[in-house]
Amino acid sequence: MSTLVVVGAQWGDEGKGKVVDAVAAEADVVARFAGGNNAGHTLVVEGRTLVTHLVPSGCLYPGTRCVLGAGMVIDPVVLAHEITTLRGLGLLANDELRVSLDAHVIFPFHIELDALREDAARQRGRAIGTTKRGIGPAYEAKAARRGIRVRDLFDRATLTERLGQNELQAAHEAERLGGRLGTGAREWLAHAEEWATWLAPIACDAGAFCHDAIVAGRRVLFEGAQGALLDVDHGTYPYVTSSSTIAGGACTGIGIGPTAIDGVWGISKAYATRVGAGPFPTKLASNGKDLIGDRLRELGAEFGATTGRPRDCGWLDLPALRHAARLSGMTGLAITKLDVLAALRKVEVCVAYEDGIDPGTHGLFSAKPRLQACEGWDDPDVLPQLRAARTLEALPAVARAYLDLVADATGVPIALVSVGASREETIAVARPFT
Ligand code: GDP
Repeated sequence: MSTLVVVGAQWGDEGKGKVVDAVAAEADVVARFAGGNNAGHTLVVEGRTLVTHLVPSGCLYPGTRCVLGAGMVIDPVVLAHEITTLRGLGLLANDELRVSLDAHVIFPFHIELDALREDAARQRGRAIGTTKRGIGPAYEAKAARRGIRVRDLFDRATLTERLGQNELQAAHEAERLGGRLGTGAREWLAHAEEWATWLAPIACDAGAFCHDAIVAGRRVLFEGAQGALLDVDHGTYPYVTSSSTIAGGACTGIGIGPTAIDGVWGISKAYATRVGAGPFPTKLASNGKDLIGDRLRELGAEFGATTGRPRDCGWLDLPALRHAARLSGMTGLAITKLDVLAALRKVEVCVAYEDGIDPGTHGLFSAKPRLQACEGWDDPDVLPQLRAARTLEALPAVARAYLDLVADATGVPIALVSVGASREETIAVARPFT
């Protein structure tokens, strides 16, 4: 097995950064296939916290190649900042980063439109809860065939024409939304020329790059963004992101065939969170102070790495997780933040929905969870024993039973368990590339 796809199995923020970091230690190439800087991975290494939004977590390992695939939308301002920060830390040497020529570029007008749209939607009481980073408008331009790809930055005639086309469209939309664009095509062109200078040496055919690596027997990790239930095709539409978040997105977002994928790991927290609007059947009540939802948010530090927004918290939703496992054909599950659950002392889990509602994504809109209480978490020894565990056998019995329940309900074996934020607090059950 030389390729592995790692995806979120819930609504994002599952701790992909830490899991990808653990798997990346054994990978030669880490390629991200979707999303943009709406994702935020928090990595804790040697007590230092690092958040990356575009560069894959493989950047922490010298020699590991990091690839940004065609399925991504890239804000060059953010990418430049990340490259500078990482290089300042002695990471990401010159030849370690590659950017697809076919990835789409986020321009300032995409960000301005995003903010104007979200504000207008909020006034109508219909906010989607986007991160206002220009991700949605950039994907929309891609589908409308007026998007600007990395390769277009190197072709002045196409670039000038495309920017003019976008200026007309964006100015018209801004006006309709009651606003005005702060910049125009002339400024965008100047930005694009500057971006082209430093992107030229790292831009490539990312699909061919990954294909060649696979053929050469290298271990390639494909990293997704957000989570299965936010997938544009299979998530809780319209409360979704603009791209493919499931394992199939690795094929389209990189440019490799499904037969090139050897395994798929899905990442789920031991409980559930969601940020922004949209259905969340197991959401727990929260009053901002002392209810279980508040306790989970506080213990799990459930505030967005990208936006700082508080996340809604709830019990683990097994039917939804089973659905996510099917969507991505998962071969292994990575369960994170088991320590947060252990700190609660009273734990429940959703084992089914009332009235036999289909857990398929549409069912989530009307699903009422049937909860099962998990006994034994109130023992004060559970948390310290759990945090110290480095094998499944060393986990407290109650935690092992919980993991068995998850594996049985989804039909997917546990591949990794995270019992704390740091790298060491990890139980590696399966090897990612074997
Ligand atoms: P991602 O976007 O999926 O990488 O998720 P985030 O980075 O937004 O959220 C993960 C957060 O949880 C980060 O602050 C991690 O340091 C933290 N984290 C990851 N795994 C664990 C864990 O097992 N226990 C605890 N307590 N924190 C964890």
